[in-house]
Parts: sequence; C-alpha cells; structure tokens
Amino acid sequence: MPPTMEAICTDESCELDMVELHFTYDMPGDVSIADFQCPYCGTSEALEEITL
Ligand SMILES: [Zn+2]
Repeated sequence: MPPTMEAICTDESCELDMVELHFTYDMPGDVSIADFQCPYCGTSEALEEITL
C-alpha cells in the first residue's frame, strides 16, 4: 500500500479540520509535509503532520 499522511492546519483562522494525503508508489521517498500546503487556506507553514 502506498503511504498515506494525515495533516492538520494549525492556522487559527482556518476552518479545515484534517486532511488525508494519499500517495502513489511514484511519490519520491523524501516527500515531507513541508512539500504540501493547506488545501483550504493555502498556507504551507501551517500544515502539520499527525503521527498516530
Ligand atoms: Zn488552512
């Protein structure tokens, strides 16, 4: 199974609760949460990975 990553937006004014990123096998192995931005408010620094 390709990995999935769950993230939250830490921007206080953002209403997004949680987003789940589903990767394919083609995704480079060194991709981190810093490569993504919040799909709602667009802030990249506010996105934080949830480690369960
Ligand atoms: Zn956001």
